[in-house]
Amino acid sequence: MIRFFLSLILTVTAIRHSAHSAELSRLKKEQRVGGFQVQNLYSDSDGKIMGAKFIHSSTGTPVFLLQLQTVPQVFTWVDTPTNSNQGLPHALEHLLVAKGVQGHYFQLLHQMRLTPYGAATFSDFVAYGLSSEGSVDDFFESFHALLAAMYRPDFSDAEASKEFYHFGVSTGRGSKKTLIEEGTVYDEMRATQDRFRYYSELNKRIFGAESPFAFRAGGDPDQMRSVTPEDIRQFHDKYYRLGPSTGFIFVFPPQENVSAILRKISDELQQFSQSGAVSPAATSNPKYPFHSSNDLAPAIYPFPSPNAPAPGFIRFAWRPGKADSQEQLNCWKYLLARWQTARVLYCKESSSIAKPALSIREQQRLIPNSSLITLLHTP
Ligand SMILES: [Zn+2]
Repeated sequence: MIRFFLSLILTVTAIRHSAHSAELSRLKKEQRVGGFQVQNLYSDSDGKIMGAKFIHSSTGTPVFLLQLQTVPQVFTWVDTPTNSNQGLPHALEHLLVAKGVQGHYFQLLHQMRLTPYGAATFSDFVAYGLSSEGSVDDFFESFHALLAAMYRPDFSDAEASKEFYHFGVSTGRGSKKTLIEEGTVYDEMRATQDRFRYYSELNKRIFGAESPFAFRAGGDPDQMRSVTPEDIRQFHDKYYRLGPSTGFIFVFPPQENVSAILRKISDELQQFSQSGAVSPAATSNPKYPFHSSNDLAPAIYPFPSPNAPAPGFIRFAWRPGKADSQEQLNCWKYLLARWQTARVLYCKESSSIAKPALSIREQQRLIPNSSLITLLHTP
C-alpha cells in the first residue's frame, strides 16, 4: 500500500536568525495574515518561535508552517473515513497522482524538476508528500500540479479499471489462454489477503463495527471486484474538498519570506476550493463515536503463508477509557507501547492500569502461524 514515501525531516536544526524568522515570532493568536488566521505558535528547545498553525480563512483548512534548514516540502492529508472494505481510498491514492492528464502532468513535472513525492493510504486518511530540491518557485510549481491532480482529477474509466480491478488474459504454455483477475491495487491487496484481518477485527471490538478503523482502507479482494469507476469518483467527490478534514504541513528554510509564502499558499488553496466547506464545531469528543464491544474472548484469524513455522502476531487492546490527567495518559501509552512487568511496576501509581490475562510466553505458545487477539478487562 505504501509506495516510496516522503518523510518529513522533523529534527530541529539550528534556526538562523533572520528578519523573516522574526516575522513568524511577531504573530499573535487569532491575528489575520495573508488569507489565514493564526491559531498557535510553536517554539524550539531554545524558546525561539519556529512554527505556526494557521486556519485558511475562506476554506477552514488547517495549515502548519515550520521553519527548518531543509528543502521546501509539504505533507498533506485528506480524511477518508471509509465504511466498506472496497478499497476506495486506496484506489484514489493510486489514480490521482498518476492517471489522467493531471496525474501524468504531475508525474512528468516530478521527473523534470527532481521533486521526490509519495502517497500512502491509512485507516481513515490518505497522505501525499512532496519536496523540491530546487527553489521555492520550483516547489510551488510542483505543489500546484499536486493540488490539480488531487482536486481536479480527470482519469478515465479505462485507467480506473486497469489500475484497480479488471479481467485480463493470461497466456500460459502453448496456445491456451486463461481469463484472470488483475489490477495494480487488486494484486497488491491479494498479496496480503487476510494477513492483517486480526487488526481490523480487534478494531471492530474497540471502536465499533461501523467505525472507519474497523474496515480495511486498502481493500479486501473479495469486495474490490464490484467497485466501478463511478464508485471511485463519488468517493472522491465526497471527501476531496479543501476544508477542516484536509490539512497541510509545510516546511521552508527560515530565510524565506513568511508573508510571501503564506500568500502563495492561500492563492493555491483558493484556486482549488469548493463551496460547502464547513468549520468543525469545537468539541472534546472523539473524532468518531466509540461503540466498544463486550466480547472479550480471544480469537484466532489464520492467514495464508508459504512458511508454516513463521511467527504470527498478537494484538491486545483495552477498551477506550478517559484518562484523568496527561500523566496518566502518558503512563498508559508507555505501558502499552512496551508491555513488560517492569513497565507495570513503573506505572503502578496509576490505579487504572489493566493487568494482562496471559503472560507473553503463554500467549506465544498459542500462536501456530496465526493471529490471536485478546481484549482484557480493566479494573
Ligand atoms: Zn497501493
